[in-house]
Amino acid sequence: MTERLPCQTEGCVATILPATAAKTGGICMPCQQKKLRLEKEDYIARNRRFVDPYKDVTEPVEILKIMHTPKKHDPLEVLLSYPKSEQELYHNLTPKEVAQMEAYAVQLIEEGELDQAEEILLSLVCFAQATIHLGLDALIQKECFYPGILFKDALPSTRNKIMERIHHDKENRNHLLSALAWIGDEEIVCQFDSWAKSTPHWASELYVSPESYTHEAGWELDDEGNKITLFYSVRYAFKAEDQFTENKAVLALKDSNHTCPWCDGPIEVLFDCNLLDPVLQFLNLEGERLRLAACMRCAAYYGVQFMEIDYQGHLSWSSYNQLPKHFSREIYEDTEPVHLLHMADQPSGSYEASYWALEVPATQIGGHPTWIQDAEYPSCPSCAQTMVFIAQLDMEQVGNSEGIYYTFLCRSCQLSATSFQQT
Ligand SMILES: [Zn+2]
Ligand SMILES: [Zn+2]
Ligand SMILES: [Zn+2]
Repeated sequence: MTERLPCQTEGCVATILPATAAKTGGICMPCQQKKLRLEKEDYIARNRRFVDPYKDVTEPVEILKIMHTPKKHDPLEVLLSYPKSEQELYHNLTPKEVAQMEAYAVQLIEEGELDQAEEILLSLVCFAQATIHLGLDALIQKECFYPGILFKDALPSTRNKIMERIHHDKENRNHLLSALAWIGDEEIVCQFDSWAKSTPHWASELYVSPESYTHEAGWELDDEGNKITLFYSVRYAFKAEDQFTENKAVLALKDSNHTCPWCDGPIEVLFDCNLLDPVLQFLNLEGERLRLAACMRCAAYYGVQFMEIDYQGHLSWSSYNQLPKHFSREIYEDTEPVHLLHMADQPSGSYEASYWALEVPATQIGGHPTWIQDAEYPSCPSCAQTMVFIAQLDMEQVGNSEGIYYTFLCRSCQLSATSFQQT
């Protein structure tokens, strides 16, 4: 048997073969690896340089182009970030600059850089509230019909192209239906209505009925075939801050002093709305106060949760909540919120946070929801109407958590609903 030697590193008790010792200078392999790693880290720390990709660049369009270009990772380079976010830059683009960004996206599409182009077009639609007719033409040329939100406000000629494809393009049908839902003009409303009344032969190849795609774009048909919007176009965002102010129309995350009858945990008021504040006139609710509340733990684990509410701020657990068969008290792990959320003083675009992958803070009252998965508007358990989206809470903004809570209302039945989605 070969004699083993002690590792020369102070405090290490490993023994090694003479062959290893010859290779490493007397230390064991884990110590050797640690030594190399520290040497490398030291080298990087000594040779690292800070690079400002925005040095001497002043035009917002040029800054955005740099932001959208994928960066190569170089361990010796620390890229400085721009003091403003993409979102802020898009907010302030002039019509001319919007057109320049769109033209750049078209160029990228022609060069086959679809991901980059898509991100630019989405930012134009969601942040700059732009219409992107040339961008859409370029995407359709490449037979790209996704994401549907890009097709919002598309021209009738674009609509006709998509309408025509629906019948034969089995592979893209899913995306085409979503694009049509987002266009949602009168012609399309009629089309979805006629599909609802007489199912097209290709519908059997879908997972859901053609008309249910309209929920992706925040609307549905009523019994007469009219379009009903399921969200409010007015939107106020919330910002994470560390100080508390009382004088906002809506306060997020407050105690309700109620307890969940299932798990005995607290029922939290996700949104406490002062209906007398002029800012909330857009909700068109007569009363003083609306409190949208839920047991956030149970809503995250067991799906949609209902509360009886009124417009004076009362709330109580709804008997429509059915204890799940697989209910278990053991699963919960509570995290304390880190930040407070403040409602913005000024409204922002309805679709600002609608595309989840753009990764903007999503807490808001009003506006189009930020679906992480498929659109899910709950049905009112009392009258069976689809409930209207009111507000959502982005747990990443709250801190130590992820996922989004969505709140809905059936105004006539006085029921609120809370649901949750995460990746
Ligand atoms: Zn060692
Ligand atoms: Zn609970
Ligand atoms: Zn109802």
